[in-house]
Amino acid sequence: MADDLFAKHEIDELTKELKRHNKLYYEKNAPEISDFEYDKMLARLKELEKQYPQYKHKDSPTEFVGSDIANFGKIIPHKVRMYSLDNAYSLEEVKSFVHKIQAEESTVSFSLEHKIDGFSINIFYQNGKMVYATTRGDGIEGEDVTQNVKKIKSIPQKIKYENDIEVRGEIYLPVDEFERINKERQENGENLFANPRNAAAGTIKIKDSSIVEKRNLSSIMYAVGFFENKDVNTQQKLIKFLSDNGFKVSKHTKFTNNFKEMEEYCNYWEENKSSLEMDIDGIVIKVNEFDVRNKLGYTAKSPRWSIAYKFKPEEKITKLKDVIFQVGRTGAITPVAILEPIKISGSTVSRATLHNEDEIKRLDLKINDMVKVIKSGEIIPKIIGVVKELRPKDAKEIKFPEKCPVCHSEIIKDENGAISYCNNVNCPAQLQKRIEHFASRNAVDIEGLGEALISKLIEEKMLTKISDIYHLDYEKIKTFEKQAEKSVENLKNAIEKSKSQKFHKILYGLGIRFVGEKISGILTSHFKNIDEMINASYEDFLQIEEIGEKIAESLYKFFHNPESLQLIKELKEAGLNFQSEQKESVLNGKKFLITGTLKHFKRNEIKDLILDKGGKILSSVSKNLDYLIVGENPGSKLKKAQNIPSV
Ligand code: AMP
Ligand code: ZN
Repeated sequence: MADDLFAKHEIDELTKELKRHNKLYYEKNAPEISDFEYDKMLARLKELEKQYPQYKHKDSPTEFVGSDIANFGKIIPHKVRMYSLDNAYSLEEVKSFVHKIQAEESTVSFSLEHKIDGFSINIFYQNGKMVYATTRGDGIEGEDVTQNVKKIKSIPQKIKYENDIEVRGEIYLPVDEFERINKERQENGENLFANPRNAAAGTIKIKDSSIVEKRNLSSIMYAVGFFENKDVNTQQKLIKFLSDNGFKVSKHTKFTNNFKEMEEYCNYWEENKSSLEMDIDGIVIKVNEFDVRNKLGYTAKSPRWSIAYKFKPEEKITKLKDVIFQVGRTGAITPVAILEPIKISGSTVSRATLHNEDEIKRLDLKINDMVKVIKSGEIIPKIIGVVKELRPKDAKEIKFPEKCPVCHSEIIKDENGAISYCNNVNCPAQLQKRIEHFASRNAVDIEGLGEALISKLIEEKMLTKISDIYHLDYEKIKTFEKQAEKSVENLKNAIEKSKSQKFHKILYGLGIRFVGEKISGILTSHFKNIDEMINASYEDFLQIEEIGEKIAESLYKFFHNPESLQLIKELKEAGLNFQSEQKESVLNGKKFLITGTLKHFKRNEIKDLILDKGGKILSSVSKNLDYLIVGENPGSKLKKAQNIPSV
């Protein structure tokens, strides 16, 4: 019985976690864990569900592919469903997959294909013309990304074949292009993409197609959805058909019925994947003959005639030369490992995050140790262990600083004792990061105010707080080394322009904890101006949909901190814009709440509509509510609303 309860608890937890990771991966393009770790969790959940089917959730992540639908474009149903793939983590698993099919169908053959780590796409052609392109979505319906797909040179807009056809494959960003874009983003102070897959997924949903055009996305096609053509009855013929119709296909696909050759192919590409222009994360093995495929059919999530052999994350051993301590925008002090440079999955790695002091203890890390490093789907590589047998005699203890490494002020710990902070709001390191953030492109966007100039201005005491940006002595800046007169003029103009930046960008620039771009947008659509925010109560913040306790508390604290108020006052005096844009205001600030399933709208559609017309959306029933929108199967919100007397 106790076992049972543990199993139920673990199933619940895994289900919740996997759903969260699905969202991070597919919707936000910001994974927190590697695919390998994700797959391990999923495999564990599958095993538990098999043992305890009574605890399996109806919407278990083992049954459904994560959805990439993120309110970008029109939703279009696929004519034929798009599936995911079953994974194999060893060649043994591949062997048993192959042998099982061969036992039933002795003449079967297989295609061996690169598993391209990009973004799945479905393109519908009619009368030889591209009609639309959609994402995989949840496998049943996807999001319209036609405008952006039309910017990809390797995807033809006209083809020879004139009947209806859904062509499918992968859109990817070549590794070189990915590194170029990230370099550009770093220079502009923008967030970096974690890997080419994220960059491709992020790019395909950019509203401005001219940006998409500048990023050289590419594609490889390898499948069809709707397609009625009896002549094309094998994968081999299909690839030729796609190529004849002008699609880019992989040059490396191989056909065989011999397991030994499959093994060699998998091993060869696991070793040599970095010679390719794109990232691949495995090999897909598919039954070649379509009649056999039809006999084998599908599970809820994937075809029974295909399996993906996943590569192990590449792990390298190198020397930990030093650990330095960096101070971030909030004062958090993070240890960073300095490594003997080493090439991992195609790029050179010389630094790794260590998160916090506990992580150093957990790994039992010492300077001069030989450490195991992986790239784990995050931007910065990770140290996953120490090779203890190789510990040198001169291995040195890592000492966590007792004072801020930059301003030498006192260090304080957070509630859990895990993170250390520099307790000095005037710490130059914090100031540097705060100003970099404020000036970055997604915030007030001051071109020319980059890392180096900010550092110099702090050193010269010309920047002691954010608002100093608006009182700079430009004549003095002209005397700085490497500052051409023209660039100082440009800087002056950019600073002037930043004053009339949209309010949500200015608000984001203030660097309030947990308040990213999205939350800033929500706040400015909710409040008319910054004074309304300053006067709001904790409950006022909490009432807003998408704002939970953590964010509400951070906002309330920020707007009641004398230093923030002083900053806001100074920025106002400098002429910055703290007014929300006036929306078309038919709804005039009326407050809505939605419950139940709506027939004619998706939740997000109705929400956007309300926000667009100047209404507001609350997360729970309260006296402030003006309208409750009730769909089918309403939740407890309806009952609760009925109990509140209307005024
Ligand atoms: P997963 O991301 O684990 O759901 O793996 C399935 C995905 O792999 C598919 O949806 C495709 O987007 C992608 N994929 C990449 N290369 C191939 C390929 N050669 N054949 C089939 N799927 C592929
Ligand atoms: Zn400090």
